[in-house]
Amino acid sequence: IDTPAAPVSTINVVRKKLQGYVGFANLPNQVHRKSVKKGFQFTCMVVGESGLGKSTLVNTLFNTQLYPPRENVALTHESPQTVEVKSITSDIEENGVKLRLTVVDTPGFGDFVNNEESWKPILDDIESRFDAFLEQENRVNRRKLADNRIHACIYFISPTGHALKPLDIEFMRRLHTRVNLIPVIAKADTLTEEEVAAFKQRILADINYHKIQIYQAPTYEYDDQETVAENHEIVSKIPFAVVGSDKEFDVGGGRCVRGRKYPWGIIEVDNEEHCDFVKLRQMLIRTHMEELKEHTNNVLYENYRTEKLAAMGIQQDPTVFKEVNPVQKMEEERLAHEQKLAKMEAEMRAVFQAKVQEKETKLKQSEEELYARHKEMKEALEKQRADLEEKRRRLESGRPMTPEKAKKKGFSFNK
Ligand code: GDP
Repeated sequence: IDTPAAPVSTINVVRKKLQGYVGFANLPNQVHRKSVKKGFQFTCMVVGESGLGKSTLVNTLFNTQLYPPRENVALTHESPQTVEVKSITSDIEENGVKLRLTVVDTPGFGDFVNNEESWKPILDDIESRFDAFLEQENRVNRRKLADNRIHACIYFISPTGHALKPLDIEFMRRLHTRVNLIPVIAKADTLTEEEVAAFKQRILADINYHKIQIYQAPTYEYDDQETVAENHEIVSKIPFAVVGSDKEFDVGGGRCVRGRKYPWGIIEVDNEEHCDFVKLRQMLIRTHMEELKEHTNNVLYENYRTEKLAAMGIQQDPTVFKEVNPVQKMEEERLAHEQKLAKMEAEMRAVFQAKVQEKETKLKQSEEELYARHKEMKEALEKQRADLEEKRRRLESGRPMTPEKAKKKGFSFNK
């Protein structure tokens, strides 16, 4: 349906000063109250070879035992044969604010001799979550949309100190248009400060070279100077060199810190001088969680949706407004699919009937053969019996009578 473009009206905006308190200054508070009541939801994926400290970091980030201790896992968990996608959801609360956190783990990634297609199940999972959301959007009733899309993907880089591995590059290249990639250098405490700095440079150079778009916490015009400076600080630390630990140590002076203990001292997780854990947490949880969700919805999902609908043949001419009806399109596809299925079913039924017919003919044939053989045998037996009867009769008629029989019949018997 072509509809004429709406007339463009010129809007005159006049700035007015209020003469008293009206109350819309309270709007942010209304939004705040509503959001707190509704609660928040966030889905984060962790990817990296096993043993790089993914579970430990997630537990450290959210300060909760989201993942059971390793010892218990080792007893029950068998190493997977393929890359799996597993999620854990938990409701956490801080100062009355509820957060439904889902962590999606990808055990098996990078753990095989051949890791060529390790990225594929992960991409499939991310896209299937987009598909599920798209399907909900196209429903008649869209009142409650469950958002299971991945809002951020923390990618763990092995602390080799050299450069990115081919697997790292392949993974990021394949996924950067589908998910907010947040690369981190795992177990950064195993590298010196200089090694970390050089490693970061090489990683960024590789990322640039391969034109990989990682998540760059954006800054907005309306942000105040302090926020802008904070953001710059965060961005300058990417890829974050992180250390995870759920152990606490007493460092004297009544101070207890989370960290990792070495003979030469303690690496403090929450100390910005020691690692970038604080900056990662700041970006992921404190300043950019909503931004990550918005970017997922407005950019990553939107691009996927456009690609998907275009692939289905739905196009939008920029000059002419055409009504796009994805529901109708999907209905048409469903009908075509059902017709295809019905055709296949009819073909299969015909093949089945032909086979049954063939079998029945064969059975009938062998039945007739059996019957003929039975008849033949019966006749042969009948003939045999008649012969025997005849022989018996002949024998009986030619045989001399026994003396007993002759006496019985009244004959005199002479020797
Ligand atoms: P996952 O398989 O990636 O989930 O790794 P885990 O979180 O289970 O950690 C594997 C091992 O590495 C455990 O023994 C952890 O204590 C240890 N580990 C975790 N994070 C760090 C870290 O930041 N630095 C060091 N040195 N070890 C870590």
